[in-house]
Amino acid sequence: MIAAETVRPDDSNPAPAVVEPAATDAFFPDLKQRVTAFLDEQGLDPIDQRGMVTKAIIIYAMWFASYGLYLFLLHSYGWLALLAVLPLYFSLLCIALAVMHDGSHAAFAHSRLLNRLAAGSMIFAGASAYFWHKGHVQRHHNHTNVNGQDRDFESGGLLRLHPAQPQRTFHRHQHIYAWFLYTMHTLKWIWWDDYFDYATDVFKLNDRSKRTVIKELLICKPWHVLSYIALPLIVSGGNWAVVLVFYVIHFLLMGISLTIVFLMAHLTGVQETCASESEAKPDWALHQLATTANFATGNRALTWVVGGLNFQIEHHIFPKMSHTRHPLIQPLVKEFCRERGVAYYEYPTFGAVLRDHYRNLKQLGTPPPSQVAATAN
Ligand SMILES: [Zn+2]
Repeated sequence: MIAAETVRPDDSNPAPAVVEPAATDAFFPDLKQRVTAFLDEQGLDPIDQRGMVTKAIIIYAMWFASYGLYLFLLHSYGWLALLAVLPLYFSLLCIALAVMHDGSHAAFAHSRLLNRLAAGSMIFAGASAYFWHKGHVQRHHNHTNVNGQDRDFESGGLLRLHPAQPQRTFHRHQHIYAWFLYTMHTLKWIWWDDYFDYATDVFKLNDRSKRTVIKELLICKPWHVLSYIALPLIVSGGNWAVVLVFYVIHFLLMGISLTIVFLMAHLTGVQETCASESEAKPDWALHQLATTANFATGNRALTWVVGGLNFQIEHHIFPKMSHTRHPLIQPLVKEFCRERGVAYYEYPTFGAVLRDHYRNLKQLGTPPPSQVAATAN
């Protein structure tokens, strides 16, 4: 049995060891009923279509304004164009986290077309929306923290992100070099992962899905090269150096930002990890609660930028709900967990969750004492 109160790992209240939640019948159906009744009472739709569309318009306006500023500075002032890298990166980050992510979950709108357009923001960002949906919505959400299924734990062996993964000697330094690999995440995704996933048919696609991916790749890759390399080169009169430096800075920032936001909720050492699907909890919500943590939910600016992904618990339990609703239902979810004696992991600040992620990397990369002794002998 675990403590009924909300768990808040911080310096004064260290993260607890993961323990089994209380046996509860109908946990998810009861929680869902309570949340649905609350939204009904408030006259709120779980899909905040108007709010999401408004937010998407603001974010896309930010991107186009930043892009216009970039081209203008590039044309007239050369290296001063680097001043536009932060606003342009920031806008694309918001597009990925606060528009594309909801669209991919069908949580952006009631309209199928609007959801597809929002999900298609991934194509705008230079990658296949179909593959992202497969990897994130189907693999990560349906098999959270399950080794071999959850793609967020895959690093090609360069990192040991899961206790079920093999330990290598170099992993003992992973808490240092992981951050460099994180920065490479988006560039690798754009220039390698999509092609590799297609060539190896990692998702076992049927012919129709393959045609969809081909169409996406034929749009997203040329668009990416056109918008971030070709057009800037033309506008700058062939100033390769500025365009290249701008591109690299922009996508290294994207890489580390996206990785941190998506990894923090599942990889801080407090969450349960499953070596195989058989270890997952049969109740949907109990599994999501055991494998997920919230962070900095009081930071409204952060919530806006990361598309509510700091409310990961609510997002994982109700993935088809618009992220703008998650702060509203959070008190109910916490209270329900308290009543049922189920742990609810929440970090008060972004710094706290980052610190525990660092510690978790270090712990996963450190060989057990017995192994160290055997090596020494
Ligand atoms: Zn998601």
